[in-house]
Amino acid sequence: MSENDAVEGLRQVREAIRRAASDYDRDPSSITLVAVSKTFPAEAVEPVLAAGQRVFGENYVQEAKAKWPRLRERYPDVELHMIGPLQSNKAREAVELFDAIHTLDRPSLAEALAKEIARQGRRPRLLVQVNTGEEPQKGGVAPGEVDAFLDACRSRWGLSVEGLMCIPPAEDPPSPHFALLNTLAQKHGLKTLSMGMSADFDAAIQLGATHVRVGSAIFGSRTKV
Ligand SMILES: *Cc1c(COP(=O)(O)O)cnc(C)c1O
Repeated sequence: MSENDAVEGLRQVREAIRRAASDYDRDPSSITLVAVSKTFPAEAVEPVLAAGQRVFGENYVQEAKAKWPRLRERYPDVELHMIGPLQSNKAREAVELFDAIHTLDRPSLAEALAKEIARQGRRPRLLVQVNTGEEPQKGGVAPGEVDAFLDACRSRWGLSVEGLMCIPPAEDPPSPHFALLNTLAQKHGLKTLSMGMSADFDAAIQLGATHVRVGSAIFGSRTKV
């Protein structure tokens, strides 16, 4: 895909988000597009920055570290979101680099992030990933353990969690998973719902997404995951 294609992809995704907001009676400004630039080099991201997109998602700490500091010199108002699995031993770099982390999903990571937040005085916004499909290979807290985990984040580690995130199983219709995430968030008074990707962000917006994470519909298909 060429650079112009990515800018055209961005335009179409923005338009589709506006349309979904209107269809489902949502305020379009309550939906943030997180442009997922994983595996795409800085040169592919540049035109999307130049077209005004400022919120980006990355899956790998090392890749984000190699790509973003230089881009940020020119676009200091960029907001960088970590949406991939995070190892506890990368907590330091993640707190340094990211403005939001969508994948808090276990005590060891909560503890490592709390320590780094205290040490650095930087507070990335935190979302708890929920494994709504209870898939063994996928990260995330099981739905039945969300209450206890959120409680522990607050009381044990002093972390303030802003919302929830999910990635529905590839083979399921996504809507029941989005609805479950919404129910869990409401139960805990959490305002941020990170759900919906290229194939299903329309359904996610219908069910209350505040952040949609869209990669291939903007940047084209990836050769790697
Ligand atoms: C890669 C990825 C996305 C973007 O997926 P697309 O289908 O390319 O839009 C969204 N969320 C997460 C967690 C991802 O890993």
